[in-house]
Amino acid sequence: MRLRITKSLSLWLALLLVTTFTSHRQHAQNVDDKVDRAQLHQALLDLTNPFTVLCVAAHPDDEDGSTLTVMRRKYGAHTVSLFSTFGEGGQNAVGPELYEELGVIRARETIAASEVQGSEPHFLGMRDFGFSKSAEETFRAWGEKETLRRMVLQIRQLRPDVIITNHNTTSGHGHHQATGRLILQAFDAAADPTQFPEQLKELTVWQTQRLFVRGGRGAEPTAQATPLQAFTIDPNEVDPIRGITYAQQALAGLQKHATQGPWPKTVPPNGARPIRYTLVRQVQTAAPLPDDAKSPLDGLRLPEAISARFTPPTIDNKPLTEFLDKRGEVLVSLINARKRAAFSGNKEIVDVDPQRFKLMSSRLDQALATATGVSLTIKSPETLVVPGEKAPFEITVANSGEDEIAIKRLVSSGLSIDKKLDTAEKLLPGTDTSQSVVALAPKTTRINVPHAQHLYDGLLFGESFTVEADVEINGARFSVVGKRQMDVAPAVEIVNNNASPCVETPATVLGCTDTSLTLISHLSRAFKGNLFLSTPLSSLIASTSKSINLGPKETQRLVSAPIEALPSRELVKYGRVGQSIKAELKAASGDLITGKIIPAVYIPAVAVAGIHVGYVPSTDSTLKNALAALGVNAKELTTEDVAKSDLSSFNTIILDNRGYEIHKELIASNDRLLKYVEDGGTMLVFYHKTNEWKPQFAPYPITVGNDRVTEEDAPVGILQPRHPLLNSPNRITQADFAGWVQERGLYYPSQWDQQYTALLTTHDKGESPLNGGLLVAQYGKGNYIYTSMVWYRQLREGIPGGYRLFANLISYGKGKPESSVTTP
Ligand SMILES: [Zn+2]
Repeated sequence: MRLRITKSLSLWLALLLVTTFTSHRQHAQNVDDKVDRAQLHQALLDLTNPFTVLCVAAHPDDEDGSTLTVMRRKYGAHTVSLFSTFGEGGQNAVGPELYEELGVIRARETIAASEVQGSEPHFLGMRDFGFSKSAEETFRAWGEKETLRRMVLQIRQLRPDVIITNHNTTSGHGHHQATGRLILQAFDAAADPTQFPEQLKELTVWQTQRLFVRGGRGAEPTAQATPLQAFTIDPNEVDPIRGITYAQQALAGLQKHATQGPWPKTVPPNGARPIRYTLVRQVQTAAPLPDDAKSPLDGLRLPEAISARFTPPTIDNKPLTEFLDKRGEVLVSLINARKRAAFSGNKEIVDVDPQRFKLMSSRLDQALATATGVSLTIKSPETLVVPGEKAPFEITVANSGEDEIAIKRLVSSGLSIDKKLDTAEKLLPGTDTSQSVVALAPKTTRINVPHAQHLYDGLLFGESFTVEADVEINGARFSVVGKRQMDVAPAVEIVNNNASPCVETPATVLGCTDTSLTLISHLSRAFKGNLFLSTPLSSLIASTSKSINLGPKETQRLVSAPIEALPSRELVKYGRVGQSIKAELKAASGDLITGKIIPAVYIPAVAVAGIHVGYVPSTDSTLKNALAALGVNAKELTTEDVAKSDLSSFNTIILDNRGYEIHKELIASNDRLLKYVEDGGTMLVFYHKTNEWKPQFAPYPITVGNDRVTEEDAPVGILQPRHPLLNSPNRITQADFAGWVQERGLYYPSQWDQQYTALLTTHDKGESPLNGGLLVAQYGKGNYIYTSMVWYRQLREGIPGGYRLFANLISYGKGKPESSVTTP
């Protein structure tokens, strides 16, 4: 039924008096349709559980989504997750982004997964420097004390009653072990006033009741927790409200971590495995965990002094969740709960555990808002704000319920706005009220784009603009909050269009002076200014400038024009090839808008002249950029090309890492690739994961194992110093293995046919040598090279030795270079 709108006179007057656009509209949808059953159920269930469960994990996707889902969706606990890193050292299964750019994506994936789980994510912001074999190596990079400090701070802020973690102290990734060790320490340290006392100016100590580690006996036995106590979660139960199992919901959450996929598409037909956690720490005063515990909270009780204040509202002594179809009755019960001050009390009572009161009181607000159908939204055509500039917002309070409400107070925070927000004495059922405001970002607002440069400084998520409404219904008040997260960008952004850093080699000297930039204006008015480009040349500075005119929100690509004006002859004369360029954009007034360093590097790496290289890229453009930097005539090959086209024109074909997994169609045309080698081609295959590779993909069998060399400075021994692959065209020496990034190699072959020659040996500290990192064999008239070294990272970062050895790999078996080039 549609409701007629009648506006009260006072409201009309209020509307006429305000200068900005204000409207009342009738809602298109019927009232009850708007109340999402699942949402109402969750809001009511949340009133029954005043406990907080914290899941601690090293990387995004390490969290136990199943247990988090069960704890929130079945039991209504407040669930939070805490990640040591953003996972930026991982791989990317869906795109070219790595390192900080990957961390930005994984932070977003984690937020999306948390929404599915109903949990709230937090990050410690430690650097994910890639796979690590030990906690010690991890602590060297993170700082043990600093990581503990951050973890303790989070525990004191989040105040969990129980903590769960997938990580123990002795197995798996070094980041996992380090996280597993620190959470044991943090459990005690957060409650100890002598630990990090500076945090206690604004916080109080916090004693978590229980700490559990996933796994059975042996997880982490302690004196306090013997005999073994544990709980088991079965995620295969069907969620009666959502109609699917908790395991299915958890899988949907896991799939949000797309960069770490591919994930299973469905839960196994016989269900997901039950999850068992062992109690490893318990405060002495904690209630005992029952023998058949089904959750980490079983048996926990609130202190007697406050427990009565947390009694959830009921109807006829039954939980409100049983009355989802009787929304009117539920609402009356909630209104009464607010009137009798449920989840609050006098100062003395509240001070016993203020945060728990705040949490549960805001959950009652949420339940009232959901049951009344009141919502607050903030819209803006902008996704970002510019410091010192204005941005328009529209704030709407909607009443999609069946009762008249009044908006008593409306306040904003985060950005300053141009006027006081109007309240409305009455908001009739099925109506909404909107008002437009202009917000100003102060000049001192800190920039957070590009996001990859703000992964560790706490600015990643930008500024939030929040509006809170105090709403009254039948004498009970509750608050409704709307929030909008805004990026903060400079007036004009400079984007480097080229790979970073740009690489020049003898074949492409001065290639990087062509660096092209894109300017993106975030202003809603025109911009006039000047772009200055400079590069230091020994004692003098070469510079050039160009006047810039940008329309509102205009994106302009500067195709190298201003940089060509740099005196390239002088660059050569002074021998300063591969110079980074400094770009600065200034307003007409001379004020600096933004600056950027465009990095470039010169590498003495040469490939045999005249070779023609085909390559099948995986997820990024590293191969394309590296081949271009070497001045090689190269063609990107599709799987269709490999299956059908004539390959004989290529001297070398490169299959990028994990190629058989990313392009599964290649497996069907592998015979063509092997025939190509037999007929005289060189095939170069980068690393594959163990389960992505079959020994028969290679002309002579290679079995891929699980060994890695993760210390990027691990010593590399040359097993065959006279082998042409290590001498031509570039003579490879120890110096070429300096400065590598992240790791030496992954998934080293564990076995290979005797036809192969192993050229290099390397190993992490205290481990046995791995000789399969670079294998080469002659097959027919051609050559086959398999290498588990992580080339894409070295090429992408412009590592000289990486380029020089790569140039040899693609040149192998092709002609004689005029002379060998050694490292200067
Ligand atoms: Zn992990």
